[in-house]
Amino acid sequence: MKLRELKEQLSDKTIEERLDTLASLFPEQVIFTTSFGVEDQVITEKIFTNNLPVRVVTLDTGRLFPETHEVFSQTMIKYRKKIEVFFPDYLSVEKLVNEKGPFSFYDSIENRKECCRIRKVIPLRRALAGMSVWVSGIRAEQSDNRGQMSDLEFDEEKKLFNFHPLFDWSLQDVEKYVKDNSIPYNSLYDKGYLSIGCEPCTRPVLKGNDFRSGRWWWENSNGKECGLHK
Ligand code: SF4
Repeated sequence: MKLRELKEQLSDKTIEERLDTLASLFPEQVIFTTSFGVEDQVITEKIFTNNLPVRVVTLDTGRLFPETHEVFSQTMIKYRKKIEVFFPDYLSVEKLVNEKGPFSFYDSIENRKECCRIRKVIPLRRALAGMSVWVSGIRAEQSDNRGQMSDLEFDEEKKLFNFHPLFDWSLQDVEKYVKDNSIPYNSLYDKGYLSIGCEPCTRPVLKGNDFRSGRWWWENSNGKECGLHK
């Protein structure tokens, strides 16, 4: 199916209807990846409460915050639905840490990308294998880089559609939805962690700064992504 055709099929629909339409058009080939951020929790709630046939998947890098595991557990308990977990290949992690130590990512961008590749990108590749639609919680206002994306795209490299249901939502929209629906969220969020990844690579965001400025803060560029999203 062409991107334009799919856009037409999804126009004038709610998020739930769009997810449902995608799941009907691509049975068992729609996957949502969550890192349990506030945006992801909104999408999880929509998938689980509407019983949408969308796989919900998370990547456990081995370096996550305990607070992230806490909200992971709360989410499982609240919805009683399956959340699939993908871990990195242990031999690759052992080799990396044996050769370069536990904090090699601070030494260079190359080392950081190597760690992200082993702990995130390769497990993601396994999760996405055979999928046709990848749903994620990207919002336009999260960074200049993300603002240039669109809510529905075709990823030529991964050969699948990317759907960002909350693309046009503001942070206030997300917070209100989470509050109104009593959705569990990461307690670090209230301490200024607007974008939460691995513990050694995430710090709170200073007021007025880019949403993702707390990620890999020692690197000085706006296009900071871990390789999951281009
Ligand atoms: Fe490694 Fe940091 Fe990337 Fe996590 S965010 S995979 S710890 S470099």
